[in-house]
Amino acid sequence: MQSIKSAVKDFNLEDIKKRVSLLTSTAKTEPEPKDKYLCHKCKDEEGFLIRVKAGDGPFDYRDVWHDCECKNERRIERLMKSSKITEEFQSKRLNNFNIEGRPLAVVQAFEAAENYAKGFRSIKDTRHNSIALLGRPGCGKTHLLMAISNHLLKNGVGVVYFPWVEGFNEIKDNLDMMESRIRQLQQAEVLYIDDMFKGRREPTDFQMEQLFAIINYRYLEKKPILISSEKTVMQICEYDEGIGSRINEMCKEYKVVLTGGIELNYRLQ
Ligand SMILES: [Zn+2]
Repeated sequence: MQSIKSAVKDFNLEDIKKRVSLLTSTAKTEPEPKDKYLCHKCKDEEGFLIRVKAGDGPFDYRDVWHDCECKNERRIERLMKSSKITEEFQSKRLNNFNIEGRPLAVVQAFEAAENYAKGFRSIKDTRHNSIALLGRPGCGKTHLLMAISNHLLKNGVGVVYFPWVEGFNEIKDNLDMMESRIRQLQQAEVLYIDDMFKGRREPTDFQMEQLFAIINYRYLEKKPILISSEKTVMQICEYDEGIGSRINEMCKEYKVVLTGGIELNYRLQ
């Protein structure tokens, strides 16, 4: 009897209330988990209000917004994400491209890429603000243009990566999104078209139409393009002169055609 009584006593209302309030109060004072925010300074608001004096009176204060130092980092992260550049490609840099013992054409392609990356700010709004690395496969065209993309992204320039085959497959699989994707490719700050015209067969009318819409828009708006392709400008002109001539003009200052034999292919070395 005695033990039942004391058990009942344990469940009296006051006691339960006390326990509940104890629980909620500990929940409130428990520190926030450390990894809840990327930036503790601004709690991921990317800025904060600072109270500053705004006059001589005792109440003359106002709050001004102050950007947090994490704001730029977050912007670059977002650019990186929307660029569609995969993790594997994020490691491609100009300083890990090996030119030692490589043929002259490859060294020239490297130099063009390096000059382009260095000079980007001063040429980006001009007609000749684009780069094309054309010709033989296996010369490191993709590595070099990826390195430029990573360099630009690091400096806060938006780059959108469009791999020719996969990019068009994605568009065909999702025609509802086509218009918005094409618009994105037209308007991106910098567009990187990788392996343009890749494939055993000739490009389709659909591909040519979309490509013209993209290239022509960017040509008129003076928006930079990075292009890698096994085709030369002449071969591109055979597909479509309008596209070939625009690319030629835009890439006039930074165009390298990797001609030559199989010795250029690093994958065979
Ligand atoms: Zn912050």
